[in-house]
Order: sequence, then structure tokens, then C-alpha cells
Amino acid sequence: MADGELGRIGLKRSNLFREQCYIDGKWVGEPEIEVRNPATRGVIGRIPNLGRAETLRAVAAAEAALPEWRALPAKARADVLRRWNDLMLKHQEDLARLMTAEQGKPLAEARGEIAYAGAFFEWFGEEARRAYGDIIPGPAADRRIMVMKQPVGVVGAITPWNFPAAMITRKVGPAIAAGCTVVLKPSELTPYSALALALLGEEAGLLAGVLNIVTGDAEPIGQVLTEDPRIAKFTFTGSTPVGKKLAAQCASTVKRVSLELGGNAPFLVFDDADIEVAAAGAIVSKFRNTGQTCVCANRFFVQDGVYEAFAKLLAEKASELVVGDGLAGVTQQGPLINVKALQKVEAHVADALGHGAKVLTGAQRDSQGGTFYQPTVLRDVAPDGLLAREETFGPVAALVRFRTEEDAIRMANDSRAGLAAYAYTRDLSRSWRVAEGLQYGMVGMNTGLISSETLPFGGVKESGIGREGSKYGIEEFLEIKSIVVQL
Ligand code: NAP
Repeated sequence: MADGELGRIGLKRSNLFREQCYIDGKWVGEPEIEVRNPATRGVIGRIPNLGRAETLRAVAAAEAALPEWRALPAKARADVLRRWNDLMLKHQEDLARLMTAEQGKPLAEARGEIAYAGAFFEWFGEEARRAYGDIIPGPAADRRIMVMKQPVGVVGAITPWNFPAAMITRKVGPAIAAGCTVVLKPSELTPYSALALALLGEEAGLLAGVLNIVTGDAEPIGQVLTEDPRIAKFTFTGSTPVGKKLAAQCASTVKRVSLELGGNAPFLVFDDADIEVAAAGAIVSKFRNTGQTCVCANRFFVQDGVYEAFAKLLAEKASELVVGDGLAGVTQQGPLINVKALQKVEAHVADALGHGAKVLTGAQRDSQGGTFYQPTVLRDVAPDGLLAREETFGPVAALVRFRTEEDAIRMANDSRAGLAAYAYTRDLSRSWRVAEGLQYGMVGMNTGLISSETLPFGGVKESGIGREGSKYGIEEFLEIKSIVVQL
């Protein structure tokens, strides 16, 4: 069985497939936990089931590697990151195929994610050389104050399955660039992308112990990463409930914490929008990765005057999306990650239909079985149903009608999430009012695709703390030290 799935992936470089963890520059652990392809349910391979003891060992390795790594000139660290990005691009096709097999996303999206993920290494290598300090005029004639930036130390990181490479490089890139060392736990659903990245990091010149990857039982591993006093900073991407729990665990040792949590993005279409552009943006924002991105549009608020036309256009475009195994070249919609995800989508759709919503397209499992679900557009959705209140994390566009700009902003802000929002209008003044009025960390104005390594990515309210990417992202891994000099 495993041979069959691996054979279908067809790696050109077979040793990118690793079934062991990476601690202190060594490949360790025995393959135990099965990893399945969500499209076929076939077993791709196994990964080690490590726990507390091995995670403590990884933390010790990261602590031991810290003095030498942080002492390197920034350029030396940047050179490693640049080579690492080069290697990712060199092996882009293999890495993309591995990712599609374990995660399910269409191959074209996986190729895009590898390029996006590598860009964080390149970007933060460049940023490492600009971690400038300050000289502050002193409060007295014979006093000076100097500010220098230093790496925070050992970093604990936990990442989700929906972007198996980029959610890692967006943390590891700035951490390593800043001079920190890392212990990372990827999702057990998508560990192979992480392990392949570790191999390429080793080839790019990472010192032993700078990056350690531990797979296995989430709770004991997470406990070490959040409670061990040797870890100075904890960074997490995943769901809001798990993020809250882990942040609470970090309190006992007062760690620095960054959280990239769930979203529930509103997508506003005003009467003065170009609805062709809005519908195209809606498809990208809603259906990328089968609706399993944290910045996916979840609630569509559409103004009276364009409601009918926009609904028709969106339903047409959604019904044309090709559903299937991501490894097949034509696929635009892969499977949902697992049965739990499928059941959540079904519960949200049933709730909406029970409250009067109507189906424009989809709203059922796909005939291919498994966790394939048809791209779905629902109209006349109640603004207070499950679809509106919770992150659906699936291929369902829920359309709600609005009359005034004030109503749209009020409904869009009526959420505990505050990650991404989108708005379509051709009125310049309105675009400023709306962008400023939306309580979200990121706003896409006339675009459904916002992510890049240059964007400060992150949310407000219960969507998180801190920013990743951009010039701000490295600050999460730098400590400010102030030195007061008496002349
Ligand atoms: P999740 O269930 O919270 O899992 C995320 C990670 O936490 C996984 O590695 C998981 O391990 C681990 N984990 C779960 N319970 C844990 C515990 N008690 N202790 C320690 N670790 C634990 O989230 P997910 O389903 O993987 O990801 C989807 C969520 O991530 C969505 O809500 C999405 O919006 C959010 N997300 C946010 C961003 C952002 O930038 N804001 C980006 C991507 C995704 P296992 O998988 O091995 O169990």
C-alpha cells in the first residue's frame, strides 16, 4: 500500500521522503503513525510517535546550538537561508507533489506554496542584515542610551496542516535569520513537507541543533514547548481554541507568544463594484485549498443592487471548478482534509438550509466519495447562523444581502475573529471608509489574494497576536536591549 502511494507521488529525488524526525542534526525515531493521502485514503508512510523525553532532548540541542548560531555574522545566516530557498526551488516539483499527496491541494497550488514558502527564507535572510538598533539622546549631558536588538533565544513552534510548508518557513525563516534556534512540531497530518524542508536546510548549511523537528503526540510535545523555561518564545499557527490553551500554558514561564489563529473573513461587494472582478476574486479567496485557508472568505455581504447578478455569476464560476485528486493536473478543488472537516461543512450547510437559505450550486458530497465536497454557493443565508458565526473551513460561499454601507460594516465586524476582510468598490472615498472601518488585521481592497512575504500577516481580536512576514516579522524573534552609558 505505502509503495503504491509513494509510487504515485513519483519523487525524482526519493530521499526527500523522510520517515524519521530531525533532532540535533540526526535523523531519529521509528516510523509508527500512519500518514494518509486525503484524496485516496491510502497510507503514504509513517512517522515517529515522539513525546516528552525526545522533545526535551530537542530543546537541549537547540539550547546548545544557540551560542554559535547567534554569534555568526548576519550575512552568514543569510547565506544559509538563500541557499535553502534555492534548494526549495530546485526541488519545487518534488516538494509540491509530496505536499499534494499529504494535504490534498491541487498541484498548481502546491507549486505556488513552495515558491511562497521559500520566499520567506530569502526575505528574512535580507532582513537579518538590517536588524538595526538606535542611539537615543540621553536625559542628561553626560548620558547616552543605546538600543540593540538580540535574538530572543530558543523558539518553540507548532504549525497546522493547511499550508504544510509556508506556515513553517514564515516562522523558521525569521527565527533563524535573527539568530534563534527552533524546535518545531508540524501537524501529524502533513509532516513530510516539514521533514523534507529539514533535509534541505541541512544541505544549505544549518548547524546541528539550529532546527529540530519533532512529530508525535501533540499534547506532551506542546507542553514542553510552552512550559520549558529554556524556551524563550512560543509561536503557534492553528485554531483559536488550541491557541488559547497553549497561550495559557505559556503564562507559567512568561514567554513571548505569537499566535496566528482562525479567521471568519467577510467579503463585501458594493453596488458600485465591478462584479466580474469581484466574482473572480471571490473564487480565489473562497475556494483556494478547498476553502481551507485562514483568510478564506466565509461570509459574503452583497448590496441590493448587484445581489442577483453577483450570485448568478459566482454560482456559475463555482460550478465549473474541477473536483478531484490534486495530483491530477486538471484538478482545481481537492478533498477536505478528513471526515471531521467534511462533517463540519455538512453541519454548517444543513443549519443554513434549515434557516431558509437556498442552494445555487453544490451543497452535497461529490460523487467521487471520500471527503470530496462540491463547491457550494448558498443565497439568502441568515446573518446569525452557524455559517456566519463560525469558520466553516470548506468550499461553501454564504451570501447575505445588505442595504447600506453602515449595515455592511456592522455585520462584517460582528465576529470575534479579525484576521482578513475583503471589499469591492470603485468609489475611492468608500474604499478608505470601509478599509478603516473593518476591524481586521488585513483588508483586501478589490482583490481576493493578499498573501506574500512582504505583507505583515496577522489578525486582531481572537485571530491572534503578532505579525508574520514583512519587515515586522523579524521583530517577533528579536529582543530589545537598552544600555545606559554614563560618560
Ligand atoms: P489545530 O487543530 O489548532 O492544530 C494546529 C497544530 O496544533 C497542529 O500541529 C496540531 O497537532 C497542534 N495541536 C492540536 N492540539 C494541540 C495541543 N493540545 N497541544 C499542542 N499542540 C496541539 O488547527 P488545524 O486544524 O491544524 O489548522 C486549521 C486552523 O488553523 C484554522 O482555524 C485556521 O484558520 C488556522 N490557521 C491560521 C493561520 C493564520 O495565519 N492566522 C494560518 C493557517 C491556519 P496535530 O495536527 O498533530 O494534532
